[in-house]
Amino acid sequence: MKYDLIIVGAGPSGIFTALELKRRKPNEKILLIEQGKPMGKRNCPKDITKNCINCRPFCSITTGFSGAGAFSDGKLSLSPEVGGDLPDLIGYNYTQELIEYTDKIYLEFGADDRVEGVEAKEEIKEIRRKAIEAGLKLVDCPIRHLGTEKAQEIYQKLEDFLIDKGVEVRFNTQATDIIVEGRVIKGVVITDSLKKEKYEEVYSDTVVISAGRKGADWVKSLCVKHNINHRAGTVDIGVRIEVRNEVMERVNNILYESKLIGYPGPFKDKVRTFCQNPGGVVSQENYDNNLAVVNGHSYKDRKTNNTNLAILSSHNFKDPFNEPIKYGTKVAELLNMLGDGKIIVQRYGDILDGKRTWAHELSRSNVVPTLPDAVAGDITSAMPYRTMTNILNFIEALDIVVPGFAGTETLLYGPEVKFYSNKVEISKDFETNIKNLYCLGDASGWTRGLMMSSLMGVRMGQILEERGHSTF
Ligand SMILES: Cc1cc2nc3c(=O)[nH]c(=O)nc-3n(C[C@H](O)[C@H](O)[C@H](O)COP(=O)(O)OP(=O)(O)OC[C@H]3O[C@@H](n4cnc5c(N)ncnc54)[C@H](O)[C@@H]3O)c2cc1C
Repeated sequence: MKYDLIIVGAGPSGIFTALELKRRKPNEKILLIEQGKPMGKRNCPKDITKNCINCRPFCSITTGFSGAGAFSDGKLSLSPEVGGDLPDLIGYNYTQELIEYTDKIYLEFGADDRVEGVEAKEEIKEIRRKAIEAGLKLVDCPIRHLGTEKAQEIYQKLEDFLIDKGVEVRFNTQATDIIVEGRVIKGVVITDSLKKEKYEEVYSDTVVISAGRKGADWVKSLCVKHNINHRAGTVDIGVRIEVRNEVMERVNNILYESKLIGYPGPFKDKVRTFCQNPGGVVSQENYDNNLAVVNGHSYKDRKTNNTNLAILSSHNFKDPFNEPIKYGTKVAELLNMLGDGKIIVQRYGDILDGKRTWAHELSRSNVVPTLPDAVAGDITSAMPYRTMTNILNFIEALDIVVPGFAGTETLLYGPEVKFYSNKVEISKDFETNIKNLYCLGDASGWTRGLMMSSLMGVRMGQILEERGHSTF
């Protein structure tokens, strides 16, 4: 079977590649390969079981149509400053233009037209003044909040649209290798994700790999096997913080999400806030290697009494060790071991008092954990000294911007680890050093968010049209 284009991975970057190319060239014969299920069949049994049951072969939270976007908070960050390094590749102003273009597509498919963090200019100035006093930088980033349930509706419409326009979407199908002849791409080897009995070759002169964080290890193995240029990325290690909405009310109302960056002493590493969820819930994600990591999201209508956000400390390595993913995995494994495979939660006051947290202490707090199966324990026994010091000093600084943030009852959940993919070396047209093989989105190491991965897909569709696709 030969196609004009094969896309591996139906996350936002893959979806928007297909969408943009189909709109520009309706007759293109496109195959979209996804190892997970269609949007409507993705569900997390935790709603019923209450505990994560480690679904096999894949966790529905990160796998299936719309990739990691389906159960995300659906926050579209409308600034080139957020979501990865793509502006370094294609330019800041051009990235801004593409954000506006891609945002319109989300609106067309039903996104809320409200944008958070653009009104209340005087109040934002006041928050910035306090951030400066605390030695932190406040990043301007308007947010369009889809909400988890709305994001799923929007991605369902996108799935229907693509299928209606003739894109062949093969679900439960995993790409296992690429076919390369003389440094030119020729196709992809695929198999049934569940049975993995028979292997089939599908052919195209153009292949886009958009396999997300989920496919990062696979992409790394392709890089090694086929000599695709790449380099080690960064790992961000930290905790998810949860406080009562009352503590964050002002910032939530004015900005929705406060993106703050600092370089606290004594190490001066980059530490930042990430993924703030007003009225949200803390959630657990399981990677295929059984690693349990914490995350968070919020529904558009079902609000809780708490706000959660991550505090992440960036780690880079050079010599003699340069495997950030391995480092982050070891830290997460240690925390998982202390939590008996579960996420650990600890009160800030207990950390300062040098003690673990006990379940009965949590039950008398104002802040009731929204991740009920997290176990009370001691994060400090597993978190590296440097990371823990960065986090604690950052929390103290944040307390100046948000009084009460460093309260006794503030909850810290761990591990929150962001494993970014190795950075694949690509041209401005996203082409690797294998002719007509493109790498996009989180799998490429150039993006780390919904808007950036979506717009990279949009741009990919445009590039393919500009290059006079089709090749068939
Ligand atoms: C819980 C959670 C909440 C998040 N919240 C936000 C948020 O609010 N705002 C934000 O900007 N970002 C958020 N993110 C990040 C965002 O979802 C990702 O950055 C984005 O989805 C990346 O898009 P992508 O297309 O690059 O990859 P992905 O969305 O990861 O999609 C990749 C797809 O490829 C498939 N795949 C992988 N390997 C193969 C293979 N070998 N064969 C076939 N298929 C394969 C996977 O199953 C997956 O469906 C969140 C992520 C998570 C996990």
